[in-house]
Amino acid sequence: MAKFYSSLSEIKSGLQSGEITVETLVKGYLEKIKQHAHLNAFNEVFEQEALTRANNIDSRIQLGNAGKLAGMVIAIKDNICYKDHKVSASSKILEGFTSIYSSTIVERLLAEDAIIIGRCNCDEFAMGASNESSYYGPVKNFADNTKVSGGSSGGSAVAVQAGMCHAAIGTDTGGSVRQPASFCGVIGLKPTYGRISRYGVIAYASSFDQVGPITKSVEDAALLLEVMAGPDEYDSTLAQKPVPSFSTNLQAPGNKKIAYLQESLSSPGVDPEVKNNLIQYIEKLRAEGHTVKPIAFEYLDYMVPSYYILATAEASSNLARYDGVHYGYRSPEASDLQSTYKKSRSEGFGKEVKRRIMLGTFVLSAGYYDAYYAKAQKARRLIRQKTEEILQEYDFILTPTAPEPAYAIGKEESDPVVTYLADIFTVQASLSGVPAISLPAGNNSKGLPLGLQLITRQFEEQELLNFSEYFLGL
Ligand code: GLN
Repeated sequence: MAKFYSSLSEIKSGLQSGEITVETLVKGYLEKIKQHAHLNAFNEVFEQEALTRANNIDSRIQLGNAGKLAGMVIAIKDNICYKDHKVSASSKILEGFTSIYSSTIVERLLAEDAIIIGRCNCDEFAMGASNESSYYGPVKNFADNTKVSGGSSGGSAVAVQAGMCHAAIGTDTGGSVRQPASFCGVIGLKPTYGRISRYGVIAYASSFDQVGPITKSVEDAALLLEVMAGPDEYDSTLAQKPVPSFSTNLQAPGNKKIAYLQESLSSPGVDPEVKNNLIQYIEKLRAEGHTVKPIAFEYLDYMVPSYYILATAEASSNLARYDGVHYGYRSPEASDLQSTYKKSRSEGFGKEVKRRIMLGTFVLSAGYYDAYYAKAQKARRLIRQKTEEILQEYDFILTPTAPEPAYAIGKEESDPVVTYLADIFTVQASLSGVPAISLPAGNNSKGLPLGLQLITRQFEEQELLNFSEYFLGL
């Protein structure tokens, strides 16, 4: 593929003028996937199928009846079900498992003529922030192969970063679309809780899980959101709100009020270059006439603990279904029902997943429930209320997406809490159910991408996208 297309509308004009076909596009991506196989972004590539679909879509374009995503070649995170295709959540326990139905989002994407080129590597069951908990090994960052991709949608972010597909779909429970997007210099959007169906998406923590697009343009993020969003009879957690035509409604945002967390500049845990970058953007925004003010967030220290108590509690329940009987891997040593459960789960789950199942089971156990789970629920409510209060006064909260840029692969912390603390900026929107986006905001002195996050009010993705488009031009 000679040319790089940053948005679907560019591809569409190429298709219209006859400069390219969907088939040549797909061939180009397949070539890139082979060339960058060492990045380990894909668990499986659907090569033949993508080529066949490309031909069909090319004919439909000729006939003038192609869908709105004709020419969009995407990759999906390997925790999204696609009928008759394998899905593994990058876990040994789902080895050999094939989806018997498609998720609602896959159906909606295909109905608009998107091409799904493969399934992407991720942290096991989406638990992690570096893609290192995957049974299939870490994903390498395209900007520096010794660095992590971020996670848990690491493969999806690198696939977009390295041009192995046009866009990708990830899932975000506590930051898994936004943080890898920021480590890879691309855009990652987590919509409002209740915006996109999770039917057919492997559950991690159901009161947080959201699907989101990873793209190189705001317009494409808007387009993918509008195609995937909206009520679905198979997911009762969805809002019944109508879905705006986000991509065609994009417009200049006007002057805004923006808050940033004081601690993001004062905390010693935030990398100095990340701080400087934030300061530069704050100054640029002020110079452009926006109001940008520091705020104190009194519950900051409670965000990560609340998230990890609630997410692991929900995970321990969601992952109970992987028992060696119903799905995927069964231990060859199993002899009776008890040992089937025990051995299959002990051998099938990786270390991080086991740690979380145990932690989640503990915080839900009789005698500890009130001290941990019930308390975390209360803390969550306070965090949400305070966040909503801030967003009454301000249009956006601006933060770094992560406290530091992509770090070295293998730099495993002896204390997992240190790793969990790095989710500090992304979990706020997850706990509060509000939308947030990570936008590429330059590189550090070593050429590693830096990302900034914007958080806004529930269901105000249009304003978020409008401002994001403008922000990228700063
Ligand atoms: N890093 C967070 C966690 O490990 C977020 C993961 C996610 O959003 N799936 O839980």
